[in-house]
This record gives sequence, C-alpha cells and structure tokens, in this order.
Amino acid sequence: MSVQSTLCMAVGLFGLLLAGFADATVEAVELTPSSEIVALASATRYAVDPSAKATAQEQFARIDSDDFQPLPHSNATFGFVEGAYWFHTRLSNRDPDTHRRILVLSYVLLDEIDVYLRRADGSITHAASGDSRPFSARALRYRAPNFVIDLGTGEQGDLLVRARSKSSMQVPLTLYSQKAFFELARDAQLGVGIYYGMLLALLLYNLVLFVSLRDQNYLYYTLYVAGFGFVQLCLNGLAFEYLWPNSPWLANVAVPVSMSLGMLFMHQFVRVFLDLKRCMPLGNKIILGFIAFHTIMFVLSFMIDYRIAVLLGTAAVFPGATAILLVSLILVRRGDPAARILMVAWTMLLIGTAAYAMVSFGFLPKVFLTEYGMQVGSALEMILLSFALAYRFAVLRDENVRIVESARNELERRVDERTLELSTTLTELAHANDRLRESSLRDGLTGAYNRRYFDAAFEPLLEECRAAGKPFSVLVADIDHFKHINDEAGHLVGDDCLRLAASVVGQIVGQGGSVVRYGGEEFVVLLPGVDEPAMRDCAEAIRFRIADSPLTINGESLSMTISIGGATSRADQDGSAMSLLQRADAAMYSAKHDGRNRIAIA
Ligand code: GH3
Ligand code: MG
Ligand code: MG
Repeated sequence: MSVQSTLCMAVGLFGLLLAGFADATVEAVELTPSSEIVALASATRYAVDPSAKATAQEQFARIDSDDFQPLPHSNATFGFVEGAYWFHTRLSNRDPDTHRRILVLSYVLLDEIDVYLRRADGSITHAASGDSRPFSARALRYRAPNFVIDLGTGEQGDLLVRARSKSSMQVPLTLYSQKAFFELARDAQLGVGIYYGMLLALLLYNLVLFVSLRDQNYLYYTLYVAGFGFVQLCLNGLAFEYLWPNSPWLANVAVPVSMSLGMLFMHQFVRVFLDLKRCMPLGNKIILGFIAFHTIMFVLSFMIDYRIAVLLGTAAVFPGATAILLVSLILVRRGDPAARILMVAWTMLLIGTAAYAMVSFGFLPKVFLTEYGMQVGSALEMILLSFALAYRFAVLRDENVRIVESARNELERRVDERTLELSTTLTELAHANDRLRESSLRDGLTGAYNRRYFDAAFEPLLEECRAAGKPFSVLVADIDHFKHINDEAGHLVGDDCLRLAASVVGQIVGQGGSVVRYGGEEFVVLLPGVDEPAMRDCAEAIRFRIADSPLTINGESLSMTISIGGATSRADQDGSAMSLLQRADAAMYSAKHDGRNRIAIA
C-alpha cells in the first residue's frame, strides 16, 4: 500500500467519520419514489458570510462542525442584505429508480447563485447561475435558476447553495423529480401564456382605441399595461430569458427601470382617468409629485447602483398606492362613478398582492389563487379598468347624443318660431295688400266706391246678372243746388253734406248693392238682381231719407234734397252697360227738370 493510497483512505475515513458525526445532528431529506416536489426550507440551515469571501471548502468545514443555523420560521427570506448567504441541506436518495432531480430556485432576481454538491466520497461538483451570469449558464432553459442534482440510490449528499444579490435575499429551494419539473414548467408556461396573452390583448385593443378615438385615457392605460407587464416580465425572469439572455447588466437594470416606468404610467393614468386637474387640484399635485419622482428614478436607474434604485423605487410604491387609494376614496365619497370602478380595480390588485406577500410570510397556504395573487389581482384590475374606460366612453357618447338631440330640438323650435313669424307677417302683408287694393277703389272723402271701381266692376256685374237670368238696376243721384250750399255755407260744410249723403245712401242700399261717387256731388248706385219696383222703392227711400236728414251747423239745421234717375235692365233685355247708365242719367236730368227732390224712372 503506497503512501498515497494510505493518505486517501485516511482522508476517506475521516470524511466518513465526520459524515457520521454530522448525521447525528443534521437531519437528511429523504428522497423516495413519492417525493415528486420537495420544499427544502424546513431542512435547510444557513450561515451569513458578510465579506462574501468564504469558499465552499470553508463552508463545508463549518457544516461538518455544525456551525449553520436553522432558517428563521423555515423561511429563507432576509430582505435587502449585504454579503453572501450560504444554505445547506443534506439529501439522502432512497429511491431505487430515480437518480436525477432538478433543484429550482423560484426567486429569479438573485445576482449570483452557486450550487455545490458534496458526495459521500468527498468529491464536490459545482454549478453557477443567477441573473448576473448569462442565461445559458442554466441547466435547463427555464425562467427561474435551476440545477441538475444527481444522486445514486442509497447515496447521501450535502447540498450547499451560496447566494448573493443586490435585490432582496430570498432563496426558496425546491427539489423536483424530472416528471414534476416538466409538469410545473408546462403548467407555469400555460399560466404565463394566459396572463401575458391577456395583457397583450388589452394593450393592443386599447392602443387601437386610442388611435381611432384620440382619447388620451386609452394611451395612458396602454402605457400602464405595458409598464406593468414589463415589471412582471422582469420579476418572473421572462425578460431575462427571452429579451436579453446575454446581458446580465440589462437583466438587473431592467428591474428598477421597469418599476419606475410602470409606476409613472400608473400615476399618470389615474390622474387623467379621474380628471384630477379639474376635480381635485391638490390630489393632482400630489400624484404629479410621484410622477416626477418616478421619472427621475427612471433616468437614475441607468446610472446609480441597482440596489439603491430598487430600494428607492420599492419605497415609493406604498405611499404612491396609498395616495391613489385616498384620492379615489375622496372622489367615491363625492359620488364619482369612475372613481368607484377605479377603487374596486385597485382593491383587486392590492388583495392579490397582499395574498402573495402573505404566502411569502407563511400566513396563507400556497394555492394557485394566493401564489399567483399578484397576477390574478392585476389581471382582474386591468380588465375592470378596461371596463371603466368603456363605461366612460358610453357616458361621453350618451352625453354627445343628448347634446346633439337638444341642439336639434332647439333648431326645430327656432325654425318653427321663424316660420310662425314669417306666416304672420305674410298674413299681415296680405291683409295690408287687401286694404290697399280696397282703399284704391274707395273715394277718399266719402268712403264710397270711386270711378276706378265703377269702370272695372260695372260691366262684369251686369254680365254676371244676365248670365244668372237676373235683372240689374242703376240709380244716378245728384244733390240739388249743391253749388248754392257750397256758396252759402262754405266748401267744408259742402264736404260734410257729401259724407252724410254717401252714408245715408250706403245704409239704405246695404249689402244689396254698391254706392259709387261718380263725380262731384253725383252718386251712382249699382243694384244687381234688383228689378224695377224694388229699385223704385230704394230710390224713393233714398230721396226721403236725404230730405229728412238735416245737417246741424252752429245750431242751425241745413237740409238738402236729391234728385234720382233710375233704369233697369231686365233679365231678358240686351243693351250695353253704358246705355243703361245713360238711361238712368237721362231720367235723373228729367227729375231735375221736373222740379228736383224727386225720382224719375227711365
Ligand atoms: P243742380 O241742382 O242743377 O244739380 O245744381 P247744382 O248747383 O247742384 O249743380 P252744379 O253742377 O252747377 O254744381 C255742382 C257743384 O258741386 C259745383 C262744385 O263746386 C260742387 N262740388 C263738386 N265737387 C265738390 C266737392 O268735393 N266738395 C264740395 N264742397 N263741393 C263740390
Ligand atoms: Mg251736378
Ligand atoms: Mg247738383
């Protein structure tokens, strides 16, 4: 036996001795055929390495001297911490068939992860991952860091994991059988597909709405969904896997960048959606403050340390969310329906996020709804907000319809008003026209018809009567010695006499005929349908009434007389209108000749 092999044996024996010693204190996780998915936290111990300079050998030595501590509350979550953290789990494979399992670290933001496996023979294998190393360093192409663990049946191994990160220190380790891992990846990928498919559909749909409606609400909603989706892509490792697998720098910077963008657009969307500028100027200023902060953070994210950027961004999430909740709460109390929908949507997201956080702290069981609380909550939130936008659109559309309707009613009312005014004016105009035509046919002094009327009406009236087989009579009446009245009493009194005579003749003739002032003090009376006896009665009545109606001037009464000649054209008689008039005129002259104040019939 050579010195070398003796040394080997000694080292081996020492190892076995140590392993046996360790066996007594550290419980091994037994892997059996039923261990499809094994969460390692309860059997994991850890140690802090503040300088981050310790080597795996040193840590294995500490494990062997039982220098590692159990995890607080069996939870490998430590917040933002400096240095490296080491985790140890002892594995013992009692599965006769399965030798290979997949170790998955489901928190994707860790910068450096080193996995060491020490076998019973003391040999150590090492694999490295984390988002500060290219994606291709992973054992399997999966969004979370993962490692292949090979242990033969009956074999025991010490799993040592070193983690270091500028984001929060969470090291949830789970061991999957290949079958379980395959199913996990498949189910997770379906969930992820549904979630991002929905985000993408909402995003494109609202983008199209923005392009066609030009309402900035849709733009900010689209940007908000894009920003939120971007954050999720970074947080669950898909951005690193698919967008920049070879850029660990981007994989890290993208986290604060996406956070600031998401928060920025979220605040802006809320501001525009609730119309804070108009409804609540103070709230508007506060939200604008958050927008300014996240804009600065966006720029700084590319320049300052990734840890500080993430810390600052995360610190602003809670006050920002509180501000939005408060603002919408105030608007809800004022009865704003849009704020109510926003508030419900926000509550969904908060409940989902709270459920997710409570799972991390072990307050809630890890079931689909709680583990993916943030995704479920945010999906519900975004769908609800999309509904809110649709509701807002419907309100605006109804308002528009109402405005158009009332404008049309107003227009119709005005048109009706104008039409009425116009028709009234037209009627008045027609009446005025009638009056004008009537007055153009009347004599200005006496109100009787004038010569123009006589010339136009005499012949047609006569023809009409003949056609109807009726007689037609004409009277010519001339005031006696009128020149004398004028000379004695003056022309004004003469005018009064003419008016009195016209009025008396008009009263007697009535509707049965028309009185025409033919000239000076001479009147013609047309009596259509009146035969000779009736004409005689009429003439006699006129003569009598004129003589019986004295005019009183300065207490003295002035009487006048009239001489009347009449002629009748019988229904069966021919002869012109002029000859009829001449016959009446001649009869009047014969009445004058016979002594005046009398009637004579042709
Ligand atoms: P006779 O009995 O023969 O008819 O005598 P007369 O004086 O009535 O007849 P004559 O034809 O000589 O006089 C008519 C007068 O009527 C002359 C004129 O001054 C007067 N006259 C005509 N038109 C008017 C008028 O509009 N107003 C007044 N005041 N007088 C008028
Ligand atoms: Mg005369
Ligand atoms: Mg006369």
